[in-house]
Parts: sequence; structure tokens; C-alpha cells
Amino acid sequence: MVTSQDIPAYTNTPDAALAMDAADPLASFRDQFYIPGAKDGQECIYLCGNSLGLQPKSTHSYVSEELEDWAKLGVDGHFHARHPWLPYHEYLTEQTARLMGAHEVEVVNMNTLTVNLHLMLVSFYRPTPTRHKILVEAMSFPSDRYAVQSQIRYHGYEPQTSLIELSPRNGESTIQCDDVQDVLDQEGDSVALVLLGAINYYNGQLMDLAGITTAGHSKGCVVGFDLAHAAGNVPLELHDWGPDFAVWCSYKYLNGGPGCVAGCFVHERHAGHTDLPRFAGWWGHNKDTRFDMPADYEPIAGAEGWQLSNPSILPLASLRAAMDIFDEAEMSRLRAKSVKLTGYLEFLLKERCSSFVEILTPLDEAQRGCQLSLRVAGNGRLLFDKLNERNVICDWRTPDVIRVAPVPLYNTFHDVYLFVDVLVEEHAQLPL
Ligand SMILES: *Cc1c(COP(=O)(O)O)cnc(C)c1O
Repeated sequence: MVTSQDIPAYTNTPDAALAMDAADPLASFRDQFYIPGAKDGQECIYLCGNSLGLQPKSTHSYVSEELEDWAKLGVDGHFHARHPWLPYHEYLTEQTARLMGAHEVEVVNMNTLTVNLHLMLVSFYRPTPTRHKILVEAMSFPSDRYAVQSQIRYHGYEPQTSLIELSPRNGESTIQCDDVQDVLDQEGDSVALVLLGAINYYNGQLMDLAGITTAGHSKGCVVGFDLAHAAGNVPLELHDWGPDFAVWCSYKYLNGGPGCVAGCFVHERHAGHTDLPRFAGWWGHNKDTRFDMPADYEPIAGAEGWQLSNPSILPLASLRAAMDIFDEAEMSRLRAKSVKLTGYLEFLLKERCSSFVEILTPLDEAQRGCQLSLRVAGNGRLLFDKLNERNVICDWRTPDVIRVAPVPLYNTFHDVYLFVDVLVEEHAQLPL
């Protein structure tokens, strides 16, 4: 519970912001990243890590090492590169498991998010005439919607009758967890799969993943999560919370780089189920016999058993650079800073912008990560464009939302102060 004593006493001055930066134990991590957009010698105010995380300065050397080894060794790099390519994805397993609160057997880095979602649906969405529905949130990410719609049709059902889309209550902008429970109470027996975004991309709401998993399982549903906006943003305990599967991308808060290799979690309870239906490829085959090229497929037990192809080494190298930074910073410390940083943004918005900004994201810190979604009265799009001209990078989501994500690894309290300052100034100059 958040009590009033826990709420830090913020002050609305640039000096106070600079003082918070000076006292920030994680402040030096910013120097490990390239801050883009230097206009007039000034770094931009980058508040868009929810869309594409920044490049660690170390990424270059991790990727270069593989390019050099490829140049020197050719095919021998599979065995003799400084980091041999054959088991390359395994270099990430331990760190990934730690970050996701999972056991090593439960995680693998492969493909991209939507591909992994389809692979998981192949195994875990097994509709029957009496249990064929998928429960999603109404404002789910388009790619997730397309994926579930196409899977429903693939199995011979229709989204109109098999897709339940949970909307916020009238006049509200986020979903109440009780409402997930209510839908499951009413329709749970016909629901094959509950698939929710852990943090909604549009409104920034963090769902109660443990509670939803329990509710879904108690009705006999499979439970899966899309962690695109949660991975690297909030602490996760996937093993203990117990969803059947989860998928995430690594180019948002994880800073892996554009289109970087994604992640996939399959709960340990399914590790031994090598007979689960799945789409197979040789990289998911038993490592001991893979190169004997046997005729019959024998999946690896655990998440690795869902791999298809030999992985892309260059993006995995860039992901290693990013994950090493997470390990050094530690998620619990990042979360502590994140709560303060986003709390500061909320404070300044309430102090200075309450006449024209509505915060759609829950105000309870337990129900959000670092992102706040702002609905701006009047011409929000024009205001967003003006922010861009002032070298403030955030993003716009139609119809009327500006998403702002102060990221604890590289954003400062001063960034947040300047953002609100520019927002106030530009709003005051908007044509009426
Ligand atoms: C960013 C995001 C995706 C992106 O999917 P890709 O397959 O990586 O292009 C999917 N789902 C959600 C919820 C996202 O936020």
C-alpha cells in the first residue's frame, strides 16, 4: 500500500531536479548510452524508450567482435569464435531468467515477438467446440489482435464469436482487475486462453499478472502474457506467478536495438511435455543428436524446444551488451528509481498542467511502469509536433495520446523537469 508518508516531497524547481540527479545512485548509467538528436550542441530529451531503447556505447564492440570473428574464421566461428556461435543464445539464458523471474529452462531468446506469439498459440491455443474463446483487452496492440484473430480463423472459428475484448468501464480509461475476474466468472468455461498485455501499450496500465493467472487457471483457461512493455520496465516473477507462456521484444526497454531478437517464456510445468503440438525446426531438436540430422524430431525439454532456426548472431550480440548493463544496474534498483522518476513526472504535470493534461495511466505506482499516457485538451497533435521541434522525443498514439516514458537507466530528473517546462511553454503558445 502506498501511504501519504511514502510519497516523496517533490519540488517544482530545476535546482530540485538537479539535486535529485546528484543523489541518484544510478546516475552514471546514462553515460553508458548514446543520447541522440544533438541539435545546437544540445542532447535531445529522449522519453521514448517505450518504443525504441537507446544504444549502449558497448554494443558496437559486442557486434564488432562477431564481425571480426566471422571475417577471420568463416564457418569455424561456429566452434572457435571468442563466443562460439553454436550455443550463442545460451549466453543470454541466465540473465534473461533473472530479469524475468524465471528458471533457466523456461526462457529462450529467439525470433521476434509476433513470431513467438504465433508459436505459443500453436501449442497453447487448442480450441474445442465448448472452449474456443480468447480473452484479450479491447485496446490490445494491433499485432496481437491480428495474431489471435488469424489463429481463431485458422482453427475454423470466427473472431466475432470466439474473441472476447474486455473494455474499461464507461468513462474510465483502464481496466479494473475485478472485471477480468467477472468475465471469467461468467464465461470462463468457454475461454480457452486469456492473453493480456502485461502493461498496456496505449494507457500504460500494469495488470495484476499473478491475480489474473490464478483467476484464469481456476477456470481451466491457459494464461499467456505479452510483456513487450514490461520486460526491463518492471520486476517480474514469471515462474511464481505461473502463466503458461509469455513473449516479449527486446528493442523497447531492453535496449537490444531495432528489430532485435525477442524472448519467450514457457512455464516449467510444460517443460517435459515434449508431445505438445508445435511447429518444429532443427534448432529445437535435442542438441546431442541435432547434427546427426535424424529423420525424427525430438524437441529439447523446455523453452528452447520451441526454437526453429539457428539464431541471428549479430542481434544476439547486441542484446548481450544490453543485458550486461541490466545485470550491473539490477532491476530492483532500477524500479526504485523508476517509481521516483515517474512520480516526479506525475507531480509536475499535476502542478503545472492540470488545466490541459489528463493522465490516463493509473496513478497507483503498483499499476504502472515508467510510462505515463497523456491526453491533451485541444490540439494535442500540434502540441506533440511542437515538442518535437523543441528536441523533445516522445510519441503520439492516435487519436489523442502522447506517451512519455522516463527510463531509469538513462533519463534524469532534469529531463523530466525540462519536458514539463517545454510542454507548458508550447501549450501556452498554441493557437486557440
Ligand atoms: C511493440 C509491441 C509488439 C511488436 O511486435 P513485433 O513482432 O516485435 O513487431 C507486439 N505487441 C506489443 C504489445 C507491443 O507493444
